[in-house]
Amino acid sequence: MSPMRILILGALFYFLYRLLFGPAKKPVSQEPSTDEDPDRDVLVEDPVCHVYVPQGQAVAAKKNGQTFYFCSDKCCETFLSGKDTTE
Ligand SMILES: [Zn+2]
Repeated sequence: MSPMRILILGALFYFLYRLLFGPAKKPVSQEPSTDEDPDRDVLVEDPVCHVYVPQGQAVAAKKNGQTFYFCSDKCCETFLSGKDTTE
């Protein structure tokens, strides 16, 4: 092996090294910690069957500009079809 080849190989290894370890500041975890919504655990009352469900899991529907939450799609449909007896 000629000395020239060793030099080229050395340069190659150097560039490889720079490629792998060059950018020292590597973003490990850039996930914003806004995952936890404080409203998710708020209990809301289903106006149809009067069951309390966490807002994050509830089925939301708007009626007359107000947002209502339901335990299931069935309750939501019942409410929107006007069979609600509480009003
Ligand atoms: Zn319900």
